[in-house]
Amino acid sequence: MKDQTLKPQPRAGIMRIALYQGGKSSLAGRSDVLKLSSNENPAGAPPAARAAIAEAAASVHRYPSTDHAALRQAIAETHGLDPERIICGAGSDEVLQFAAQCFAGEGDEIIHTEHGFSMYPILAHMAGATPVKVRERERTVDVDAILGAVTERTRIVFIANPGNPTGTMIGEAALERLADGLPGDVILVLDGAYVEYADGYEGGVGLASSRHNVLMTRTFSKIYGLGGLRVGWGYGAAEMIGAMTRIRQPFNLSTVQLAAAEAAVRDGDWVETCVRVNSEQGARLTAALGELGISCDESHANFVLARFAHEAEAVEADEALQEAGIIARRVGGYGFPEGLRITVGNAEETGRVIAALEAWREGKS
Ligand SMILES: *Cc1c(COP(=O)(O)O)cnc(C)c1O
Repeated sequence: MKDQTLKPQPRAGIMRIALYQGGKSSLAGRSDVLKLSSNENPAGAPPAARAAIAEAAASVHRYPSTDHAALRQAIAETHGLDPERIICGAGSDEVLQFAAQCFAGEGDEIIHTEHGFSMYPILAHMAGATPVKVRERERTVDVDAILGAVTERTRIVFIANPGNPTGTMIGEAALERLADGLPGDVILVLDGAYVEYADGYEGGVGLASSRHNVLMTRTFSKIYGLGGLRVGWGYGAAEMIGAMTRIRQPFNLSTVQLAAAEAAVRDGDWVETCVRVNSEQGARLTAALGELGISCDESHANFVLARFAHEAEAVEADEALQEAGIIARRVGGYGFPEGLRITVGNAEETGRVIAALEAWREGKS
């Protein structure tokens, strides 16, 4: 008889992983739901990408490209980069995972910040490493606090700039100070999921081009409206990208993903138009929150973090929004029990959010 007390045991750290909580997408009994919980593009995907998806259907019996050459070339041309230093993944999440698994393991530390993206500690545990949380200052990444937390075990520092769910960012001088202050064998990952929305910011291209230990990541999930398709990419030194490519599965991106992303990245007008709508509606929403006495930092992304007086008020506002068919994101898990993260929609959608919050405030007074 087999010993029934013996069971397969996951590797150390695996069971410490908190399951990722995605944004809610439906409300019971409602068909007019406005989903503003996952920072998706209200305009959807660019028409050129949709057409490419339809066209790619004819060749899905063929295995996809393993080297992603056409997509890397399109990205390189659009952003003025070296295609040899680009790696593509199933969302930028997969690129972040390549970095963690390639460069950190048991006994190593991975730094993330207090209100940083919830995937960072998950990725650290996946690699068997220890996530180290560093405080922020006024909801903003604090370079000195990060540098002060570096030990000889530190392998990676993850920051999102602009940050999620704060929407705040640090400037290029601060980023350079952070890069310069880190030991040469510690990777600084600049997660650029929202860089297109940050007016005047080059997204970390300069540092990722000039330093051997800076990795910039970007995604097709936000401004390009392709979150459901899963495509992202990273840019860094050739040796770093070369190592990450070894743990990338050869067919990690499908023919459909590659074709859609290539069409999207070649559509320069799309980014411009979406950024314009976002900045107008983001400013409108921020101003309306201010008038309602709800705290909100200036956001450099496609969402705002509304901070209420306390948690109970955030719960109430969330319920009022849901009664109006609007789904925002509670962010207690990010250290903001009093917060609601609201994706910036188009003009009509933003009007709906403002009206619902005004009605909620009026009902209270
Ligand atoms: C949305 C988001 C991403 C993008 O994830 P994908 O895997 O590319 O969809 C990455 N980082 C942050 C901070 C995000 O908010």
